[in-house]
Amino acid sequence: MVTVNDNYLKLKAGYLFPEIARRVKAFAEMNPDAPIIKLGIGDVTEPLPAACRIAMIKAVEDMGDRATFKGYGPEQGYAWLRDKIASHDFQARGCDIDGAEIFVSDGAKCDTGNILDIFGKDNAIAVTDPVYPVYVDTNVMVGHTGEANDAGKYEGLIYLPMTAENNFTPDLPTGKVDLIYLCFPNNPTGATASKATLKKWVDYAKANDAIIFFDAAYEAFITDPEFPHSIYEIEGAKDCAIEFRSFSKNAGFTGTRCAFTVVPKSLKAKSSDGSDVELHQLWNRRQSTKFNGVSYIIQRGAEAVYSTEGQAQIKGLIGFYLENAAIVREKLMAMGLKVYGGVNAPYVWVQTPSGVTSWDFFDKLLKEANVVGTPGSGFGAAGEGYFRISAFNSRKNIEVAMQRIAEKLKM
Ligand code: PLP
Repeated sequence: MVTVNDNYLKLKAGYLFPEIARRVKAFAEMNPDAPIIKLGIGDVTEPLPAACRIAMIKAVEDMGDRATFKGYGPEQGYAWLRDKIASHDFQARGCDIDGAEIFVSDGAKCDTGNILDIFGKDNAIAVTDPVYPVYVDTNVMVGHTGEANDAGKYEGLIYLPMTAENNFTPDLPTGKVDLIYLCFPNNPTGATASKATLKKWVDYAKANDAIIFFDAAYEAFITDPEFPHSIYEIEGAKDCAIEFRSFSKNAGFTGTRCAFTVVPKSLKAKSSDGSDVELHQLWNRRQSTKFNGVSYIIQRGAEAVYSTEGQAQIKGLIGFYLENAAIVREKLMAMGLKVYGGVNAPYVWVQTPSGVTSWDFFDKLLKEANVVGTPGSGFGAAGEGYFRISAFNSRKNIEVAMQRIAEKLKM
């Protein structure tokens, strides 16, 4: 008899986005003329930057000529892309990261999940609450947890609450943890971490021989020069952190797919016999065995992000979404709601009115304003009483949605 990976059966069936889709579908069937606006899933809406499109078209032409045709590329990504990433995203910010420490991939989502392949089974793992659900579910899938309780918390994971009281930056764990997931600018709260906050975590990781998984998928939304874009801006982080980045949200690559992960060569962990093992080597082994690289055409598109035109165009895109976020914030605050995030981040995190749960607020918004957002409780127990609104949409949809909310949703 064939058996399955039982860990999958521990996953909570009502995963957030399918549940949202179910409720929206049911509402739309009952109200076929309702002009629903979706500000839920964090997918971009604006077209790819011209610089990226032009580079990809040229790359398609390269593929049509025997002299420039490319077959399998290097699993780690082409050096011309990795070197540009290293110099622009890291060295220019004073981080000592080399192109050889960068692994180009088809998504930060898969990398944050796949990274668990190279770690042992007995690490103590800390996640924030609320959290990007992928970190939790991938730990469940590989068997790092027990069952979930009624609040949706899995036995065996250490949850670090992020609340208004701690400015949505988690306090250090009271005990020792080995692997820590941090995401700044944060999905879902839109919070950003200062250098002092990240230094506290780097110091903790170094003192406890822990490793930080730093998800910086939204770093491009940081416009305030005070905030670090990379954890490697903190001294010592090269010895305790892996960083995940993506072209999804800065250059609109959610459907095009390109991202990268930085595994510094100095980063080590222990084998079961107590000897030091370079994580760079293990991740390289993992990627070159299970992954065959990102398409040449797409990597050329990603490279164009670093051209002068590309930089100007992505700045325009990010500025556009940040203006959307400012509109959302302003309208909600004018209604007397408590609002967080949406500055240096594309997500606005709204506190629901007293006594209204995240899902109640979702239903109210859907039914009365025909606007879809994301209930905070779907991101973890500490997200109860909050609601996420995404700034990824057209200006018209943002304005219409916020006007409807202001008019129809009398609190
Ligand atoms: N990390 C975070 C925190 C995200 O919110 C997302 C997407 O929403 C991702 C990673 C996924 O990035 P990618 O499109 O590169 O897989």
